[in-house]
Amino acid sequence: MQRDVVIIGAGAAGLMCAITAAGRGRRVLLVDHSNKAGKKILMSGGGRCNFTNMYAEPANFAATNPHFVKSALARYTPWDFIALVAEHGVPYHEKKLGQLFCDNRSKDILNLLFAECERAGVELHVNTAVHRIERAEAGYALSTDLGPVATESLVIATGGLSIPTLGATGFGYDVARQFGHNVLPTRAGLVPFTTSGELKELCTELSGTSVDCVASCNGESFRENLLFTHRGLSGPAILQISSFWHPGDTVEINLLPDRDALEWLQGEQAARPNSELKTVLGEVFSKKMAARWLPSRPMKQYTPAELKRIADQLNAWQVVPAGTEGYRTAEVTLGGVDTREVSSKTMESLKSPGLYFIGEVLDVSGHLGGFNFQWAWASGHAAAQVV
Ligand SMILES: Cc1cc2nc3c(=O)[nH]c(=O)nc-3n(C[C@H](O)[C@H](O)[C@H](O)COP(=O)(O)OP(=O)(O)OC[C@H]3O[C@@H](n4cnc5c(N)ncnc54)[C@H](O)[C@@H]3O)c2cc1C
Repeated sequence: MQRDVVIIGAGAAGLMCAITAAGRGRRVLLVDHSNKAGKKILMSGGGRCNFTNMYAEPANFAATNPHFVKSALARYTPWDFIALVAEHGVPYHEKKLGQLFCDNRSKDILNLLFAECERAGVELHVNTAVHRIERAEAGYALSTDLGPVATESLVIATGGLSIPTLGATGFGYDVARQFGHNVLPTRAGLVPFTTSGELKELCTELSGTSVDCVASCNGESFRENLLFTHRGLSGPAILQISSFWHPGDTVEINLLPDRDALEWLQGEQAARPNSELKTVLGEVFSKKMAARWLPSRPMKQYTPAELKRIADQLNAWQVVPAGTEGYRTAEVTLGGVDTREVSSKTMESLKSPGLYFIGEVLDVSGHLGGFNFQWAWASGHAAAQVV
């Protein structure tokens, strides 16, 4: 079998690349080893797919080479994808901070992509593994479950390692290495923290409690909600900061981002010396959290040094996570194919002509909030212009 373009991996990036390349008249074969295409799209955004972010810009992405994302993001913007969503009549809304979600279900986005694949004439085969890839005179020769396939352009869109049960594999990294690419070490990103000891007990007891905070680590800060869970800490603020955390690092959490806790506590101590600390805290936190956070005594009994310690624990709570939940629940994989060896304009390998890498397999990961899909759409679209 001979095709102009073979794309391995029918996730967000692979589907977009297939649709756009087939729309240019290229004969496109899109294969996935899983029994279904776009499984992560279905799971995403809590079942409502946060399909883009209106304010996506290069600063929302982490990559060893920060300039890499600029060209593709500029040439396929959130508004391009929004136009496609609108064309298909998919209802959506902005949840917050530019994050666009389906009103109904993620499947609306997948159906849209399938309809576009059909319209463009993409040949999609699921349950199809690729066993071997070799360089051929004019491109690549593949040994697949469909038999031998020859192609001029081979696009690797197999994503990262997050959520193996959804079909994630390290296939893309192996292909990259085979063709001389450097693959940067990978680790789980946008992932909950696990805790141990007393901190774990606290998290378990407060499990289900959510609180507005600023989480900071290694020079990055995010203001969002934190959620205590039975295993540790989660919620958008924690997922965001997890991408900048390394084992052993301390995460600083400001649980009262809008006020100086010391000034506030001193004021409360003067105004109502007989009130218990938990009553005072109960005015800004849930009752459960106020009661469990610190041992409570009447306000007048706290010395200035004790009050300062309590304030520090509110404005600058120091947390050392035991680890993360890992790829089992991570929304993204950090690291991956080194972007310094890939064209930022076309996503083509600078080591092996005709080979392309798109989506999450690359060392590009977005913040939480629709940025990762925008990267999948934009990088898939960029490669599709030239394959
Ligand atoms: C639970 C969850 C929720 C998420 N929610 C959001 C969200 O709301 N908004 C957002 O922007 N991002 C979200 N993300 C991140 C987003 O899903 C990914 O960044 C995006 O899907 C990456 O696209 P991709 O096409 O590169 O990879 P993927 O979507 O992972 O697709 C890779 C495809 O390659 C296939 N594949 C893997 N190995 C092989 C192989 N050896 N042979 C053949 N095929 C193979 C897989 O089966 C898969 O279909 C979420 C992620 C998770 C896990």
